[in-house]
Amino acid sequence: MAKTPRLSREERYAILERDGFHCVNCGSGGKTSRVILEVDHIIPRSAGGSNHPNNLRTLCVICHDHRHYGAWTGRKVMFDEDFRRQREGEGE
Ligand SMILES: [Zn+2]
Repeated sequence: MAKTPRLSREERYAILERDGFHCVNCGSGGKTSRVILEVDHIIPRSAGGSNHPNNLRTLCVICHDHRHYGAWTGRKVMFDEDFRRQREGEGE
């Protein structure tokens, strides 16, 4: 069986748009936000997960990291608002 290919830019964008440019776990994001959003495979590609939209969801980079480093609990990740503001203020 062929390995699932990487998502194209168009496929990725379609998922972000479907999820309203918000992390489906913690709700951060939005068009005016600087939160980095990524598209996550619910069943990983390495485990044969497909690129079907049903297997894809939008996560912010923080929730995505939590998931991939084994800290994923399925619960909402609580943000320290000050920390987030500080992050958003970077790079100006
Ligand atoms: Zn998140």
